[in-house]
Amino acid sequence: MIQNPIPWPNGARCACAITFDVDADSLIHIARPADSFDRLYPITMGRYGPTVGVPRILDTYRRLGLKQSFFMPGWTMERYPQTVEAILREGHEIGHHGYIHEDPTEISAPAQRAAFERALAIHVALTGRMPRGYRAPVYNANQATIDLLIEHGFAYDSSLMADDIPYLMKTARGQLYEAPPHWGSDDWPPFAHYAEIGYMMPVKAPSEGLAASFEEFEAQYEAGGFWMGIWHPFLTGRLARWRVVERWLENVLATRSVWFAPLEEIVAYVDGLVAAGRYQVRTETLPYFTGPVMP
Ligand SMILES: [Zn+2]
Repeated sequence: MIQNPIPWPNGARCACAITFDVDADSLIHIARPADSFDRLYPITMGRYGPTVGVPRILDTYRRLGLKQSFFMPGWTMERYPQTVEAILREGHEIGHHGYIHEDPTEISAPAQRAAFERALAIHVALTGRMPRGYRAPVYNANQATIDLLIEHGFAYDSSLMADDIPYLMKTARGQLYEAPPHWGSDDWPPFAHYAEIGYMMPVKAPSEGLAASFEEFEAQYEAGGFWMGIWHPFLTGRLARWRVVERWLENVLATRSVWFAPLEEIVAYVDGLVAAGRYQVRTETLPYFTGPVMP
């Protein structure tokens, strides 16, 4: 069970979001900056995401009438502007996902701010607006990330894992919703095989790999919660895997009472309930620590 289930709109039993992190080949360039430019296999494995995976995904969403969320590094947006245009043209959301997939915990605070704001400027230039949401590359948000999001007026983060359903994070500087991901419905563990950046995973069959995400859905549905897929177009957008997803989506939409929406809308809906006094949101107070915990 969930202690404080959110009363979803129109009696829906579960809010659902498929979120795609469109990393493309940013992953190899940040991991192997000296020679990534001439590593054609990882470049092409990444390029498949925006050029082949995303059009396929958008086609399904159009057919099923879904609007969803995508997170893109700024570098990737500049490199694949037609992908940005296609996503926006269909009415989907694009969230902030770093500049070139740099890990915030691996760089200095000034470098983190510079990369964050560089990506922000690209969002404004290419989408005509500030992004409302953010996902840290490899989920590695730190306190400075949360501070930057609050400073720049973001509505939500989607990197942290303190609950099953959206919750509120409060700091001395302000507040921010969290749309919590988890590895249980992330496609990286079952599908990413990427020796060049340190992942040597046994690749699962499409139905087996996606079963983890779908079992997460069943538990959230039963509890009246929030289900989110954290997937990558270059992994789950591939032909055989997306075929499994399409069939699952068709079945869920036909047989269950679900609300699929972009994270931006789900968070705005929760915020509306809170503002109207109709829902008591669980709150986490940050920072958790201000220095090393071990003496
Ligand atoms: Zn990513």
